[in-house]
Formats: sequence, C-alpha cells, structure tokens
Amino acid sequence: MSDDVSLAEYRGAMIDVDEAYKVLFANIKPLGTEQVPLEAALYRTLAAPVRCDVDFPPFDKSAMDGYAIRAADVASAPVTLKVVGQIAAGSISEKALTSGGAMQINTGAPMPPGADAVVRVELTKLTGSGEAVLIRESVPPGKFITPRATYTSAGQTVLEAGTRMTPLAIGSAATAGATRVTVYRRPKAAILATGDELVEIDRRPVGAQIRDSNRHLLAALITSAHAEPVALTTARDDRESLREQILAGYRSDVLCITGGVSMGAFDFVPEVLEACGARFHIRKMAIKPGRPTIFATSPTGTLIFGLPGNPASAFVGFELLVRPALGALEGRPGAVPRGVRATLRGSVQSTTNRRAYVPARAFVGDDGERVVETLSWHGSGDSFGMAAANALIVQPPEMDAATSGADVSILLLDRT
Ligand code: AMP
Ligand code: MG
Repeated sequence: MSDDVSLAEYRGAMIDVDEAYKVLFANIKPLGTEQVPLEAALYRTLAAPVRCDVDFPPFDKSAMDGYAIRAADVASAPVTLKVVGQIAAGSISEKALTSGGAMQINTGAPMPPGADAVVRVELTKLTGSGEAVLIRESVPPGKFITPRATYTSAGQTVLEAGTRMTPLAIGSAATAGATRVTVYRRPKAAILATGDELVEIDRRPVGAQIRDSNRHLLAALITSAHAEPVALTTARDDRESLREQILAGYRSDVLCITGGVSMGAFDFVPEVLEACGARFHIRKMAIKPGRPTIFATSPTGTLIFGLPGNPASAFVGFELLVRPALGALEGRPGAVPRGVRATLRGSVQSTTNRRAYVPARAFVGDDGERVVETLSWHGSGDSFGMAAANALIVQPPEMDAATSGADVSILLLDRT
C-alpha cells in the first residue's frame, strides 16, 4: 500500500457476508438492455415484460379426445346420440350442434357452437356403421372444456421484467408470440491471474512453478453464469505488469483478479489497484477460505473482485460474491446463494471468528432426506479434492466441530 493510513485501513476489520452483500448491491447498477431473438435468450434476464398478443386458449377448447355433446342430452345416460360431425385440432366446425347430436372431437380442437361438454372416448361406443354413438355416463356442463382466455387474455403480462429465461420461460414467451425479447446485456467479465510462479497448463511445471489453473476455473465459472469471459494476459508479480493488465480489465464490466491480494511482500494487487484509481469497498471478509477478498470499483465503473490465489478461495469468492454480482448486473439483485439444511456425512472442524465454507457433495439419500458428504479434500490449494463439490457446507463463526448425523446448513451451487 502507498502509505500507512491506507495500510492500516487494509488491515482493518473483516466484514461478514451479509454486510458484504449490502455493500456489493449498493454499488451495482444493471447494465443496458438489448433485443435478442427468442432462440438466443436462454438464461438471459428480461428487462421488459413479455405480453401475450392473443387470448389463450384463443377459443373454447376440448381437453380430451371424445364427443362434444349437450350435457342435457346425456343427463339420463346411457343414451345413444347421432354422430353429426368430426372436429380435428386445427379445424373449426361451422355447424352448430343441435339436440340429439354428438360431434367427434380431438384434444385441442375448438368446441362447436351449441355443445357444452365433452364425453371422453373411453366412455363411449360407436354403434353400427359409425352413425351413432352410445354415451355410457352423464357429464355436467363445461366438462373437459377449457374456456377461451383461461390461461391469459390479450395484452396481459405473462413474464415479468427480471425473469430469467429458463427453458420453460422460453416456451411461455413462444406461446405469447414473442419472437424477440428485451434482455439485459450479458456482462463481460475479464480474468486476470497473477503470480510469478504461474505457467500455462500445457507446460510441465519445473522448480517453483505451478500451472495457472484459476484462469480456467474462472472462465468456466463465468461461462456457467452465462456471462462472457474475457481472458487477460497473466500478470507477473510486478507493478508494471499488473498495471497494464488491470487497465485492460477496466474495459470489461467485471474484473476478476486472482492471487497477489494478501499481505505478502509480493502481493502488489491492492496498491496497484489504488494507483489505477480503484475505490475499495471490501478489503477483507470474515470467511474461510478467502479472508483477503477485495471488492472495489474502477473509475470506469468496472466491478473489481480480488480473490486469493488458492483455487478453493477463488471458487468460494466467486460463488459468494461474483456470481450474485453478475446476476445484479443483469437485473436480478439479491440472487444470493441461500442455505438449506442437510444431514452431515463426515466431519467438519470447529470455526474461529470466520464463517467457514467447506466444498462438499450434496445428494438425496434413499429415505428422501438431503445428505451432504465431505470430500477427501486437503485444503484451499487442493483442486483435485474439491472437483466433485456441488455444495458448500457453511459453518458459522465460533462453532464446535460437527460429525456425521449433524444438521448443517449448506449452499447448493447454482448450475443453471
Ligand atoms: P496468493 O493469493 O498469490 O498468495 O497465492 C496463494 C496460492 O495460490 C499460492 O500457492 C499460489 O501459487 C496459488 N495460486 C495463485 N494463483 C494461482 C492460479 N492462477 N492458479 C492456481 N494456483 C494459483
Ligand atoms: Mg501470489
């Protein structure tokens, strides 16, 4: 850091996750919007509601294959009615149904005028040469008819702004005739790995080198959040190299930096960020792993996350802060991971004054209860041991150790 005052500040209080969210969301404005074809909208977030342009169903619709009849005609079933027509889905009966008649009808076909109920085909039997039908049971008026506009009527909103376009939301928009939808711009998230020890993954590390895995981890996490990863050149632990790449990162909406954020002699990220005009909002968090996690903003409005270099710390920091921030940029504020209860299998250590996040595997046991199993994981530098994690066990500060059978809180990691 450049002087004693900011160094003191940097060493200042750790903030907890709830407080961090307040700070985070207070500093995020949604991005601009754009129109995209519906087929390009999967997992984007609506910036304007989708309205249906027609009543739906657009006509009184049969909900069954069977016979359109007049309920009064079958009140004393069994009765035999004259078959006076046939209506397939996609066709309309010009003819009205009069007393004593029945029309064969398919699921989804419009009811003929005059009919007020449908008898399922299973409760009927065609007689003779198909001119008459035996109706075995009576039905009340309205049976198996879905009246026009039951689901929605023309002009009604069917998807609110802020909706994430899941496959079901895409189906709904398609029904409403929305060939294009207005969504928030997809955030660009730049990735800056830092460290003199890092080599590309196609190299066999020698001496003090290790492979730069975080670049790949973060690119995959950003892609899994449906944002756009932007690769920066991995920076050395020197001020000039960092400065150049940090300034390049300011062209994106988000800049994720890993490594160099702690208090080590070669951890220059905080001071170079400061020299590049960043405003710090979070410098330290009461979480384990990930105490030296930074959140700052650049003069260009880029959200900057400084994550420790250990893969687990970078991962936890991404899931706790970066993924929710990407959601907020796309108009979904408050999309934070929420705890659910699970029965522990394995054991977790006691905690100190920091909330602990332990990568783990959650699944539904044979009895239908949620179970969370610890992994054979050797700590925050071990990417192999946490590769199977789909959840984080959350242990509050000052907690005793927990063993198999304990009821624990877990975060299920979002994979949509
Ligand atoms: P740092 O946060 O720079 O003190 O790094 C903490 C640990 O994470 C060190 O063991 C680093 O070698 C390791 N590390 C830093 N950057 C990366 C990276 N990009 N990929 C994998 N490990 C890393
Ligand atoms: Mg380092």
